[in-house]
Amino acid sequence: MAYDFDLYVIGAGSGGVRCARFAAGFGAKVAVAESRYLGGTCVNVGCVPKKLLVYGAHFAEDFEQASGFGWSLGEANFDWATLIANKDREINRLNGIYRNLLVNSGVTLHEGHAKVVDPHQVEVNGQRYSAKHILIATGGWPQIPDIPGREHAISSNEAFFLKELPKRVLVVGGGYIAVEFAGIFHGLGADTQLLYRGELFLRGFDGAVRKHLQEELTKRGLGLQFNADIERIDKQADGSLEVTLKDGRKLQADCVFYATGRRPMLDNLGLENTGVKLDKRGFIEVDDQYQSSEPSILAIGDVIGRVQLTPVALAEGMAVARRLFRPEQYRPVDYQMIPTAVFSLPNIGTVGLTEEQAREAGHQVQVFESRFRPMKLTLTDCQERTLMKLVVDADSDKVLGCHMVGPDAGEIVQGLAIALKAGATKRDFDETIGVHPTAAEEFVTMRTPVAD
Ligand code: FAD
Ligand code: NDP
Repeated sequence: MAYDFDLYVIGAGSGGVRCARFAAGFGAKVAVAESRYLGGTCVNVGCVPKKLLVYGAHFAEDFEQASGFGWSLGEANFDWATLIANKDREINRLNGIYRNLLVNSGVTLHEGHAKVVDPHQVEVNGQRYSAKHILIATGGWPQIPDIPGREHAISSNEAFFLKELPKRVLVVGGGYIAVEFAGIFHGLGADTQLLYRGELFLRGFDGAVRKHLQEELTKRGLGLQFNADIERIDKQADGSLEVTLKDGRKLQADCVFYATGRRPMLDNLGLENTGVKLDKRGFIEVDDQYQSSEPSILAIGDVIGRVQLTPVALAEGMAVARRLFRPEQYRPVDYQMIPTAVFSLPNIGTVGLTEEQAREAGHQVQVFESRFRPMKLTLTDCQERTLMKLVVDADSDKVLGCHMVGPDAGEIVQGLAIALKAGATKRDFDETIGVHPTAAEEFVTMRTPVAD
């Protein structure tokens, strides 16, 4: 049967664009539908604008520390509207780049909501298109628990477009987004409290990293409230919000920001017209080659709920393009040793196993740890400390995990990830010459394991 397209991609986000461009490059006839914004979550309401706001927040400490180096500055003033307008301009520019990337690689772009009408047909703006393969790359959407007053809360989607910087912010959640945005609001001058329902935030990260960040954020004056959860939110006559916690306490705020995870974006997608199955958590179930239970339909990225990170969606997009149109070049995505950063202030950078995971997996573990005051701070009053940690398998000497809390941790860990992926041992680390004077050299100079 002749189809309109070889591949129809739904969603022009990280994964969809990557797959569409490469598939077109391999000679396939490809279309992409996008209902909202080119570049998806990462470009519009995710990684990119978030990092720009983190840079913005970081200036506060740069100004504070400058006097130690002889600089005297007038009173520093921050204008939220300028930051948001400049961020919007940059995102617009990136949207244009994404449009050009698609069009120049020969992909047909349909701007509108796409609905799957049968296993080989998609409807967009009232038009139907047939395709041999359909790829669902529709990403995710913030999930806010259904509590009374939920309508008064915002998510990351709205935070990027607030008209003003709120004076008092309550951030709810203990994952990436909560920790990053608490740092942004606090750094930009808002009175910020982070509320997390468990004992300690960042579940799944190394225990030493979680504790170290807790200490550093507390030193900075960011309010951390653990074992705290919201029961209801009430709007007051003056427009402010009264928040009642489950333990009965009441807090006042101007903004309640929920970062309690993301659900797959399947709204009005028409999956009921197909044999696509969802997993227990509601994400699209796929096999190890991203095929759903409907053979002509594949899915990648946040909508399959494996690892919700842009570079992973890109790798999955690439794998699908190769699998369908260059099978001889197909390589499965390796989900081991995925490096990641939390752009809190200070940053977390991590790759490989945490100490807890390594022990649980039965490794005989040796831990190397270093805590120090970064050189840049020695001329300032800032008492921030950096943490570096290596988790090593005592039998094979392989480095199983690297963890860091400190300036540029994400940048440093990216390089270490290559070493770990290549199977580096602690001896390889020891025999590597450091770059002096840097913080990163500490990773190759830790000699004495921490006592058990
Ligand atoms: P998306 O990028 O979400 O793209 C999906 C696209 O599909 C969207 O454009 C959407 O409009 C479109 N769409 C949905 N339904 C339809 C439909 N029916 N028809 C047509 N189009 C449709 N990851 C990192 O690696 N580093 C970070 O620093 C980072 N920061 C983040 C910060 C925030 C605040 C958030 C929310 C996420 C962050 N992420 C980060 C995660 C990252 O953004 C996602 O993992 C990544 O965008 C997933 O890509 P995707 O292709 O699966 O989906
Ligand atoms: P996460 O899954 O990282 O964290 C969700 C947090 O919300 C957890 O602390 C969870 O607690 C808590 N939570 C969940 N449900 C509730 C509830 N009903 N009430 C109270 N608390 C709740 O999600 P995020 O929204 O922070 O981010 C989504 C994903 O986006 C991340 O997992 C990450 O993959 C990606 N991302 C990556 C970034 C990066 O690379 N720098 C930055 C931002 C996002 P508990 O631990 O107890 O379950």
